[in-house]
Amino acid sequence: NMAPRKFFVGGNWKMNGDKKSLGELIQTLNAAKVNADTEVVCGAPFIYLEFARKQLDSKFGVAAQNCYKVSKGAFTGEISDEAVVVCGPGLQLFSVSCGEHLHVEKTQLIGQKVSHALSEGLGVVACIGEKLDEREAGITEKVVFEQTKVIADNVKDWSKVVLAYEPVWAIGTGKTATPQQAQEVHEKLRKWLKENVSETVADSVRIIYGGSVTGASCKELGSQQDVDGFLVGGASLKPEFVTIINARQ
Ligand code: PGA
Repeated sequence: NMAPRKFFVGGNWKMNGDKKSLGELIQTLNAAKVNADTEVVCGAPFIYLEFARKQLDSKFGVAAQNCYKVSKGAFTGEISDEAVVVCGPGLQLFSVSCGEHLHVEKTQLIGQKVSHALSEGLGVVACIGEKLDEREAGITEKVVFEQTKVIADNVKDWSKVVLAYEPVWAIGTGKTATPQQAQEVHEKLRKWLKENVSETVADSVRIIYGGSVTGASCKELGSQQDVDGFLVGGASLKPEFVTIINARQ
């Protein structure tokens, strides 16, 4: 029997906050009683990575939201993994909107970024998910399997990868997938991993859900067998993030 998968909650601050508001949020997090069995990582805007790492209690991880596919070069405005490592985050958080994955070039770029980040020792949260018209057309499975394949083709060591199922129609919309909808896709993804990667990877990889998770919806979502945590946008900027971290308590 495998060790249970450690619950993983990522807070993606996106392009929000300044030192004052993030400092207040960090104080709330540091003072909170959080489940020690849960891995928590906060994805800070790049310019606040060092600030967040210095201020946040060491029980929280800090992650960048993105970095480029190579370490250096003439790439205006891109961020190197080396700069991310200097700031010391344990995991690199990919917040790339899932809808973009469908564009072939972008999908390939995401694969290259995953591959490069892992080769540089960073962890990766890789997002996948279908758009509303794809769900309505009944091709959710096909879409998320294709996206997962691009990621899987670029991963050798799965221990540093967290897979985030984020239906595009649920991101920032206030529309959460039902616990049954999330569980159904997560279960299929695990089966895909079993058939296309290995049983060990399928059993051990955390598959987390993202898309309008709130303090009110987290308990039932988090109690689903194949939901191993959350990727949280809007609610990660509020004190209710503590409730979401403790969803499994
Ligand atoms: P949301 O964002 O919680 O605001 O919907 C989710 C995400 O993009 O990770």
